[in-house]
Amino acid sequence: MSAGHKWYLMRDEELLDLRLCDLPLRIRGTILEDRIKRLYEELNGRGIRFKPHVWLGEEWFSPDGVPGIAIPFYLGHPRLMQLERKQMFEVEGGTETECMRILRHEAGHAIDTAYRLHFKRRWRELFGSFAQPYPNFYRPRPKSRNFVLHLGAWYAQAHPAEDFAETFAVWLAPRSRWRTRYRDWPALAKLEYVDELMDEIKGQPRRNRRRDKIEPLGEARISLREHYSRKRQHYAIERGAFYDRDLLRIFAEGSNNAARPTAASFIRAIRRELREIVAEGTGVHQYTVDHVLKNMIERSKDLKLRVGDSKRATRRQFMVALTVHVMNMLHSGYHRIAV
Ligand SMILES: [Zn+2]
Repeated sequence: MSAGHKWYLMRDEELLDLRLCDLPLRIRGTILEDRIKRLYEELNGRGIRFKPHVWLGEEWFSPDGVPGIAIPFYLGHPRLMQLERKQMFEVEGGTETECMRILRHEAGHAIDTAYRLHFKRRWRELFGSFAQPYPNFYRPRPKSRNFVLHLGAWYAQAHPAEDFAETFAVWLAPRSRWRTRYRDWPALAKLEYVDELMDEIKGQPRRNRRRDKIEPLGEARISLREHYSRKRQHYAIERGAFYDRDLLRIFAEGSNNAARPTAASFIRAIRRELREIVAEGTGVHQYTVDHVLKNMIERSKDLKLRVGDSKRATRRQFMVALTVHVMNMLHSGYHRIAV
């Protein structure tokens, strides 16, 4: 692409043909620069000299073995944030608050790697085995007080490495008042351990000195179109017939009842609203919720269902069933990759 080419003025269809490696993006001079500076200041404020290095990549992650943070490229330009929202319904880390939350979480992974913390006996006792494989899906216990609450979807429950990163993030956040907030929670022991651990390492040089960038944007030769096709697939959950039991309970069977609206049209009318409410309430990506909704619409058509009860009661029952399905299959290992 020529330097003077205004790629950000392209229409979506043209933009999607560009390769990720050809996007002329930098962190310097963007909103990301300020946010990273803020993260570094928070670490300084706690006396931690180590600062994870950052780069633009396809997604948020902190690689195994490299104490740095990859930040998704779309945060590098407003035009790409707009495209992300259009393709995925939401922009993970788009607001300053959410971006700082994720940065603190990834900084937790990076500091764990930098000081090889997960090899410590006490770390293992509190968080579990770092080496255990990431499950493809996890089923959280929303009421558990053994884990802090930070990112959505009860993410600390996904894996011991995530538990540590989440605990670190809560500990690092300014004005988090974790001692009060988690006073009667077993999770407090984890926070106190992080507090002691950071006091112990803050003057020490890091043990892992790698500064390389894993899967940087400049090496991503796929087009934006291909990137989004893969990303949507990652967030899509195929469950098909699993929804039948709930759908049959909530809606009425009856091709003989043509006066009533079809279940499919009923769900379609509230699809956007439910997608937003359930994503907000569970912390699950809007695309995942939407995909479950899409499958439920398909099954409702196959089963020829119609609205049987009052619309209000049906809406309520449907929202509960949707939430349960979304909760039963949360993706894990999203913020981290193995290298
Ligand atoms: Zn993570």
